[in-house]
Amino acid sequence: MSGRLKPLIRRCIQCYTLNHRRLMLRFTLENGVPQLDQTTGRGYYVCANAACLERAQKGRRLEKQYRVSPEQAADFWSRLRARL
Ligand SMILES: [Zn+2]
Repeated sequence: MSGRLKPLIRRCIQCYTLNHRRLMLRFTLENGVPQLDQTTGRGYYVCANAACLERAQKGRRLEKQYRVSPEQAADFWSRLRARL
């Protein structure tokens, strides 16, 4: 057994690209509210780049796919953008 961890590859909710999770932003959803920095719960990932975040926001990905309210989604995208 080597002590190395397997690469942690995750899929972007917007563009479906597979990437190492270090290159992605993770969030969870609690009762339809996106949360950053929660280590427990089902994780969702989006590419940590402005183009992908912008496409996800304009396409209302969170609202359509995860039933997030428009206000929560707008707040969430601005918090994510602050982390790029
Ligand atoms: Zn992406």
